[in-house]
Amino acid sequence: MTEQPSGTTGHTVDRRLRERAQAVIPGGMYGHQSAAALPAAYPQFMRSGRGARVWDVDGNEYVDLMCSYGPVVLGHQHPRVEEAAAAQAALGDCQNGPGPVMVDLAELLVRTVRHADWAMFAKNGTDATTMCCTIARAQTGRRIILTAAGAYHGAAPWCTPRPAGVTPQDRANLGRYTYNDLASVRQAAAEAGDDLAAILVSPFRHDAGHDQELVDPDFARGLRALCDATGAALILDDVRCGFRLHLGSSWEPVGVQPDLSAWSKAIANGHPLAAVLGNDAFRDGARQVFVTGSFWFSAVPMAAAVATIAALEEERAVQAMEQAGTTLRDGILAQARSWDLSVNYTGPAVMPYLSFAGDDDRRLAGVFADAALRGGLYLHPRHNWFVSAAMTGDDIARALEATDKAFAAVRKQLGNREST
Ligand SMILES: *Cc1c(COP(=O)(O)O)cnc(C)c1O
Repeated sequence: MTEQPSGTTGHTVDRRLRERAQAVIPGGMYGHQSAAALPAAYPQFMRSGRGARVWDVDGNEYVDLMCSYGPVVLGHQHPRVEEAAAAQAALGDCQNGPGPVMVDLAELLVRTVRHADWAMFAKNGTDATTMCCTIARAQTGRRIILTAAGAYHGAAPWCTPRPAGVTPQDRANLGRYTYNDLASVRQAAAEAGDDLAAILVSPFRHDAGHDQELVDPDFARGLRALCDATGAALILDDVRCGFRLHLGSSWEPVGVQPDLSAWSKAIANGHPLAAVLGNDAFRDGARQVFVTGSFWFSAVPMAAAVATIAALEEERAVQAMEQAGTTLRDGILAQARSWDLSVNYTGPAVMPYLSFAGDDDRRLAGVFADAALRGGLYLHPRHNWFVSAAMTGDDIARALEATDKAFAAVRKQLGNREST
């Protein structure tokens, strides 16, 4: 592994690209991959990836704990997935009609995900969550969708977390509840009355910048009962967690089946694809809505998805990620103790979030991420991390070397006297 530079010598190519981008891309970059709010050492532009390693445009190598913010699950450039994609690309991708692989993939998803009787495809997670809401409204003839305050469901005006360019009308027909608080859902449902179309929920609470909260099974069961009683759709937003926690919907281990589920990110191991899965009660609504996109029927990502799901199963990837994630968590928590630092390491082991006690302005999280990056580990100071199935023992050992240096930097920042 290349020794990480100080952040001033080894980012020449990146710096030049950023200067050019400033002139032709608003703000120099936008969206979740803008490096503007990341610590100074972070590169903006990436060159390549393989397995659990990624390289920036200056050739610096990192162990990858972000997995492209979720889309990569089997590791970068997974041979079997890339072979399937290349074989389909040699035939055709964007054509006058979908390839036969669309039916193969729909059948495979219906077999793999318990609640699903049918599948539809799109490109982005936002497409999928938006379609779920539209289908729920078409099926029920009602308007109101309940979502958890602070939850992320995409970047369209109805759900984007930033207010710029959004009108109150874009947010009409939404109600709010608090995650894991059934009483708050019941109250919001009562306010919606007979206009309640759906309850939208994440598999666990993974709001950016907050400690994560696993779902209370009673909460999940309570939502199911409420939807059964009112005829509203239970929509699971499995865009981020899908196929990382379970090879099926993320609430199968909890024993709760949604009516509709939204998928994207990992389902094609980095190829652009989203899916809406639904049960027979919502098939008619799904048939009635007009939803489409120029690239939604492209065959290459669908071929990649078929290969991804097969590889997830054959490589027992969910178990592999759980094991790697647990080793990483145990190592990081032991290091935090040895540096006498009080941390919260929340969420599933495969999608952890690290915060420091009392670090309300995330200053220590920034110091930690900056030092980890300089030590050759790519993680994020304010977003959950992703463990891929490609992580080897060597990758984990290198990651832990970097986190040890990062804890040392935090300890230094706090000063030894402050130790508790
Ligand atoms: C990423 C994400 C989305 C939006 O997906 P895009 O592909 O970015 O449109 C929706 N819901 C959750 C939970 C996500 O993590």
